[in-house]
Amino acid sequence: MSRPVPEWIGKHHGVNIPPRVRQRIFDRDNGICHLCKLMIKPGETWQADHVIALINGGEHRETNLAPAHSHCHVGKSARDVKEKAKVARVRQKHTGAVRPLGKIQSPGFAKSPKQPRIDKSALPPLPLSPLMRLARS
Ligand SMILES: [Zn+2]
Repeated sequence: MSRPVPEWIGKHHGVNIPPRVRQRIFDRDNGICHLCKLMIKPGETWQADHVIALINGGEHRETNLAPAHSHCHVGKSARDVKEKAKVARVRQKHTGAVRPLGKIQSPGFAKSPKQPRIDKSALPPLPLSPLMRLARS
């Protein structure tokens, strides 16, 4: 039985994860990428991914790290940034920091008075167009 090792916690976000900690993370998860759930094969590059991204409030510590293929990690980082942006937008709307871009309602057109109906049969016939006059002659 090995001696229990205290959890590694980065003093700040810029601290590199030491190789011994990367090894522990890899061994703890049996070398399985936590994103695609596939085995990380020898020779494949992998990164210690923050399960909850630092930008989304995750901590730089061993329990928040899991191995991920480099190619899987790229996509997650982009999604994390997208998530952060969305959370910020929702929060700004919620707190009223950003006012919604509501459409300005126009007053619309004034109602015109109702026009009286004209009995067309009572009107004199319209003069014929020159073309119609030619056709009739
Ligand atoms: Zn993967």
